[in-house]
Amino acid sequence: MTHEFSQSDAAEKLLRWFSTNGRDMPWRVKGRAHGNPYAVWISEIMLQQTTVKTVVDYFNRWMKRFPTIDSLAKADLQEVLLYWQGLGYYTRAKKIYECAHVLMKEYGGKIPNNRELLLKLPGIGPYSASSICAFAFNQPETVVDGNVIRVIARLYGLTHAVTKEEIYRLSQPMTPKEHGADYASAIMDLGATVCTPNKPNCLHCPWREICKAHALNIAESIPLIHKPAKKIKRGYVYLIQNDSGAFYIEKRAGKGLLSGLFEFPWQADESHYPLFEHPHWHQTPQTVSHTFTHFQLTLQIVRLQVSENESIPLSNGIFVLPEHFSDYPFSTLMKKVMKRLVEKEPRLL
Ligand code: SF4
Repeated sequence: MTHEFSQSDAAEKLLRWFSTNGRDMPWRVKGRAHGNPYAVWISEIMLQQTTVKTVVDYFNRWMKRFPTIDSLAKADLQEVLLYWQGLGYYTRAKKIYECAHVLMKEYGGKIPNNRELLLKLPGIGPYSASSICAFAFNQPETVVDGNVIRVIARLYGLTHAVTKEEIYRLSQPMTPKEHGADYASAIMDLGATVCTPNKPNCLHCPWREICKAHALNIAESIPLIHKPAKKIKRGYVYLIQNDSGAFYIEKRAGKGLLSGLFEFPWQADESHYPLFEHPHWHQTPQTVSHTFTHFQLTLQIVRLQVSENESIPLSNGIFVLPEHFSDYPFSTLMKKVMKRLVEKEPRLL
């Protein structure tokens, strides 16, 4: 075995493998481009940082409620966020919504079939633009996600810490001029189902004869990934409940990651506890942890019982009964707080 191989031959082998082994998905059609670029766009944004298994239900529900770009643009943002609830990274849903308006205003409700134009749209970065061009328009785009990084790094036996740019440079010449949709799907599927992080199934891999990592028996140690340690933050989440059992929630203002979502008051630091002066704050031993992109957060749950007529020095929120929480979009972090609450008091929800 040599590291030298014909790239067009490798691409052909992969496409042949895909024609019988590729996975069917609601946003992908084997053998051609998907007929609905809108569906491809939504699925691509949903799939960022989330598994296919998780996305399928979200995607089907979304497409039923917002079947067209027009229907999405006409919807209320709060409802859009409700349909995204649980997927996390809510900025993506807000950008989709913003993008739907731009598409209606500037592109007649259609998704452009041009990478440069796609890159000008809100929330569409280089990876999404390439994916949309490949899956929706069958263009010969080289997509590089985590699966592709692993497969290509192993194929070339790269034992150093690889970069996306390096993988792109190696993948690009292998991308065939035709069958862009199938090729992009195929290389992702190979990574997801055969060349898996642990115990890759090399025996059933179309590239086993040309793969350097397989020949050297070093596949599982590739790719080498350096993940910087995440910063750890600690803070408090305040559950304020009145006599009728309703909890105080407020809509997050501003333009940040969680803006537009509802939440119990919380803080990502330990400096100002409690939220305001009151003799009956009760710091529970319960905590909730959540990993954000750049830090790991642990919130301690703090509770307060107030009487219905008691005024509290928080002005923007409302008291909502737990059975009505589902009417409001909450962040994944707040969903975890609710889960912790219900573990303690199962009758609440
Ligand atoms: S031969 Fe094994 S290590 Fe190489 S690409 Fe295929 S599954 Fe991955």
